Amino acid sequence: MASSFVPPLTGFLRSCHQEFVVDDSGAVADYIPELTRANPAHFGVSLATIDGYIYEVGDSAAPFTIQSISKAFVFALALETLGHERVESVIGVEPSGEAFNSIRLTGDNKPFNPMVNAGAIACSGLIYQHAGEGAFDLIHRTLGRFAGRKLDIDEAVFASERATGDRNRAIAWLLRNYSVLRDDVDAVLDAYFRQCAVLVTARDLAVMAATLANSGRNPLTGDQIISPYVVARTLSVMTSSGMYDYAGEWIYRVGIPAKSGVGGGIIAALPAQLGLGTFSPRLDSHGNSVRGLKVCEALSAHFGLHVLNRSDDVRTCIISDYNAAGISSRRNRQNVELAILQERAGDIRVIELVGALSFAAMDYVSRRLAGEGRQAELLILDFRRVPSATAAAARLLRAALAGLADSGAKIILAGFEKDSPLWEAINAADVALPKLHHFPLLDDAIEWAEDQVIYRFGGFEGLAKTTHLSEQALLAGLTPDEIDHIAAIGFARAFKTGERIIAAGDPAASLFFLQCGMVSVKLPSGARLATISPGMAFGEMALIERERSADVWADTVVQCLELPLNAYASFRKSYPECGELVMRNLASLLAKRLMLANAKVDLLSAY
Ligand code: GLU
Repeated sequence: MASSFVPPLTGFLRSCHQEFVVDDSGAVADYIPELTRANPAHFGVSLATIDGYIYEVGDSAAPFTIQSISKAFVFALALETLGHERVESVIGVEPSGEAFNSIRLTGDNKPFNPMVNAGAIACSGLIYQHAGEGAFDLIHRTLGRFAGRKLDIDEAVFASERATGDRNRAIAWLLRNYSVLRDDVDAVLDAYFRQCAVLVTARDLAVMAATLANSGRNPLTGDQIISPYVVARTLSVMTSSGMYDYAGEWIYRVGIPAKSGVGGGIIAALPAQLGLGTFSPRLDSHGNSVRGLKVCEALSAHFGLHVLNRSDDVRTCIISDYNAAGISSRRNRQNVELAILQERAGDIRVIELVGALSFAAMDYVSRRLAGEGRQAELLILDFRRVPSATAAAARLLRAALAGLADSGAKIILAGFEKDSPLWEAINAADVALPKLHHFPLLDDAIEWAEDQVIYRFGGFEGLAKTTHLSEQALLAGLTPDEIDHIAAIGFARAFKTGERIIAAGDPAASLFFLQCGMVSVKLPSGARLATISPGMAFGEMALIERERSADVWADTVVQCLELPLNAYASFRKSYPECGELVMRNLASLLAKRLMLANAKVDLLSAY
């Protein structure tokens, strides 16, 4: 029997673990005495995807202290709660080129960045200014929200660092001298030492990193912890200064924003893709976990995950681009209408978009819109396959819509609800959009555009309001006598707007000839299959099927002729050649419907 399939990443991470677990180079940090108690053999790897799947290999559940990795999250917390101006006024963002615990400040007496101790202590100081005695609680809760669970604290590591952390104490007093710290230095240091002593696992780190990768929303809990703006700033300082003195080499070789800590942990966050957490306590001369580094390098190299290595093809964002010659709405129209639509097919253009819209993708769409040839008067943009648009894409889209409206085009947007995040992105509050028409469903948008064209060319005036049975396509070829006979065995029926004429699942015992008004054939879910105009039949599948396969609703006041199948059966006995003719007509109508459906499928696969 075949063994059960596992996702390929599981295999990849397992083989990384197997390959690197034998490397016992490096040494456990010892400048905080309690850290020497770490088990040097531990090695855990976890990867969390932004849709909330977690891979775990080795000692991914072994707890260890977060140490410097906390700096990234406390910086994010400071930006989120105090705003970037306040934070930037006391902490720089330049790589220092010095050791993480250097006592040097910038020329204007600020810590170089929030990833070195001076900057991190300043950040904890900012949180202290904001929350006072509650500072550590706020930090602790926030770290827990990133991990998606309440985290414990290693009191022994805290006490050990507090007892020996004179270098950090010196840094803190220096910051106090320059008024970067304004409060009780010991209280701020306590908050900082405690935040470093928060216990996490490789799995926790993966989730925390995935939260950064997922625009600040924890993929497990759905909690939006920080804004995308703060995420970008946090990832920036991780990129330039997250890996101690190895930061330049790291971004060159691995190319994923990361942060490591002397407890042996590393987080790496690849925006919009994944979060990685590794744990192995032996550190190299830079202070980075030896095995953790290797896992990150292998993952990046094997899959080409360097953030600057991008190769998107923007042209794939248009899945199809057509006019009304190739396609129509699900409204079955009368011949007068069809003739106008055929003639004016170029007046309606539909562009169906796919995928998240980026700046470059939207630029491509806007150039296609501005492109060669006569512009369609009615332009439908369908977003049903577009989950999101970046702010830049939305800005370009708004400008393109304004330009198109100025040039006289009627713009119809379809495929989203007005309360969707996509619409929120497009409809930014500070810019006025041109007049737009909106339909949640593309088919409704196409039908509306068809109506505009038909109306403009007088089609509705030429439309028969009430049709005679002889105009029914299903009865084409029957003599007036035969048609009179059918009229005589049927019943005139009238329905009010909104009434259900046929219910799916009922026995199919009759068919209907629509003479006046409109009806829609719908699935029980409400999805529309077709709208029928006077001169057409509905429920005609009763000639083949025993049960109704869909509902039929009166869209307007309706008059029709209902023909019971048993009466029709005796009619067919007297006029056998009529029965055959009707079946042929039915076959030809179904063939036309099939051809239309094929044309739609073809349009979508042409791209
Ligand atoms: N608590 C440690 C310190 O301040 C953190 C250092 C680190 O992980 O880089 O020295």
